[in-house]
This record gives sequence, C-alpha cells and structure tokens, in this order.
Amino acid sequence: MRFNEFVANDRLIEEITEAVKTNTLPHAIILDGAKGTGKQTLAKIIARSFVCTSEGTSDIKPCGKCPACLKAEHLSHPDIFIANGNNTGELTVDAIRNIRADAYIKPNEAPTKVYLLLNCDKMLAPAQNSFLKVLEEPPANVVFIMTVTSANMLLQTVRSRSRLYTLYPVQPQAAAEYIYRIFPEKDYGDILHTAQLCDGNIGKTLEMLESGGEEAKKIADEIFTAAIKGNEYTVLTSTNKITASRTLAVSVLDFLTENVAECVRASVGIKTLSAVAEDTAKRMTKGRILRLAENIERAKQVLETNVNLNFFSTWLSSMLKV
Ligand SMILES: [Zn+2]
Repeated sequence: MRFNEFVANDRLIEEITEAVKTNTLPHAIILDGAKGTGKQTLAKIIARSFVCTSEGTSDIKPCGKCPACLKAEHLSHPDIFIANGNNTGELTVDAIRNIRADAYIKPNEAPTKVYLLLNCDKMLAPAQNSFLKVLEEPPANVVFIMTVTSANMLLQTVRSRSRLYTLYPVQPQAAAEYIYRIFPEKDYGDILHTAQLCDGNIGKTLEMLESGGEEAKKIADEIFTAAIKGNEYTVLTSTNKITASRTLAVSVLDFLTENVAECVRASVGIKTLSAVAEDTAKRMTKGRILRLAENIERAKQVLETNVNLNFFSTWLSSMLKV
C-alpha cells in the first residue's frame, strides 16, 4: 500500500509525504487516533518509505514495486521490526530493552532501521521510561514509529521527543467507497449503512461487516417491520435469531436504533432514504416511535449485563409492543 491509497486524512497525508520527499521525517513519530482509524496501516506505509529503494524522482516512496517494498509488504524486510507486545499486547520493559540493544546494530540492507511500536496504549510508564533512554540519544539511522489511541497515554517526555500526527475518522461515504473498492462483491448499500452506524470509522465498519453486520441488518429490518405492523409472532421468531451470539445481538440492536432514528426523522418531516421509515411515520404517532426508541435503548443496557440470550430475546419481543 502507498500513501495515495490511504483514504482521507488528506492534509495529514500531504504533510507526511512532503516530509518524505524532503527527507525531513523525524526519528520518532507518534500516530494517534481512535481504534480503527488506520494508524497501523499508516505506520507501515511510513516504515516502507524508509526502506524503499526506488530511484524514480516522480515517485513518492514507498513505490510499492521495488524488492524492498515487496519484502516489507510480506512483513519480511530485515530492517522493519514490529513490536506487538506480549500475549496480552503489553510492551514490556524487557521488550523495550531488546529494542534498545538492537537499535545500536547497523541496518541489514536499508539505509535506515525502523521499529514499529504498535499499540502503545499498552506500554506502561516503566517501559516508556526505558524507551526514553534511546529516544534521548538515538542511534543514527534508526526511526521509531508509535501508534496509540491518544498521545496523552504517553509520558510528556516521550511526546516532547517525537512528532505527533493525529488521524481522524472519515466521512461515512468516503469510508464506504474505500471498503467497496477492496470488497466489490459486497453490497454497497449495506457497506454505506454500516459505515454510517460506525461514524466513518473504517476499522469498526469492517469489523461489523465481518461479524455478520449484513445478517444483523436483515434481522433488524425483519424485527422492525413486524413490530410496527404489530405482527407479534414474526417479532418473536425474528428476535429469537439473535440468540446465535452476543455480538450479533449487539449489532441487531444497533441497527434497530438506526431504524428508529430514521423514523423519528421522518416523523418530524425530514426526508429519509428509508421507505420503511417514511411508511412508519405515517402509521405510528411520534409518541409511539419515541417509546420504541426508549425501549430499544433500555434493551441495549440490559444486553450489556450478562443476561441470558434466550431470556433476553423473549423479553425484547415484549418490549417492541408499543
Ligand atoms: Zn519501493
């Protein structure tokens, strides 16, 4: 993957590519942003820009084609080190000590050695202090790239020796278009709907799509249509489907919330894209729609407790009678 394939965050990408072109990226970089905003993807692209051997002047590194880029793509470049942490994801003092010792050994083949410290949310203060030693007197030809959900989780002393780049979620439509380019076999409407639910967070959208988002949406639509028509039997059989897994149940409730929100918008005269919402707004009073919204919110809270799913699905079907 190259910089121009990274979706949105245009100004940030421009700033970074400019620094790549002028060879002014610092030796310590922090990428911060919510989970799913692409920090690790961007960290890997930056890492590749340091090992890419492309000679072309018009190409911005990484070129994605040279042997070094291909090795990096396959995670087998000898000068890119990825620290993922131990089995609980923690970057321990020992792990940092190993990195420190290794950093003073010359690169194998690239001009620069790159260390990716992914998920620094799990680098506790003692490990950070140990890391600080190498940041204060960095060996030549070494770059450290850290990713963290918020730079505030890092010590001020670490932050002050690094350059911070912040990533933001993108517009849902841009997120959906990006995902659709990777998975053209998926339904674009489903992707866009999921991306809207996830506020443009690409990682979250992909996770929801993978965890049966499309199925969850289908079930939610079934439940919802039956509920507004007062078809109790279908509500019961449809809610019974969420007992398959807790993740599915959570997704179904998220989609139900979105369905009701559409109805609320339609009931106050805002044009929506949902035919069901438009129809519901005509059939139900605003008071009933709001009651439905409240009950779904309550159901979400109940689901957060360790409630039995069979019990929950039956209870949910009764809550949908408004
Ligand atoms: Zn290259």
